[in-house]
Amino acid sequence: MVADNRFTCLMATHSVECLRCGHVRQVPARAGQNVDAGECDRCEYVGWALVADLTEKLRRILRERPPERRRLYAA
Ligand SMILES: [Zn+2]
Repeated sequence: MVADNRFTCLMATHSVECLRCGHVRQVPARAGQNVDAGECDRCEYVGWALVADLTEKLRRILRERPPERRRLYAA
């Protein structure tokens, strides 16, 4: 149930992280469009990464770990 709620949130907005200072913002999601997040409130940098993309990369790295190593991290 918790996972379903998170999925719904991700569909409504994108979380984007400033590539310069790490400031995270929510921007409205538009299907099939690039996210236009504008300038960072903090540092005025215009480069953003989708937090969801970063999370997916991390998940993939964790998935590819051998099970015995994953158990170490879970403990
Ligand atoms: Zn920034």
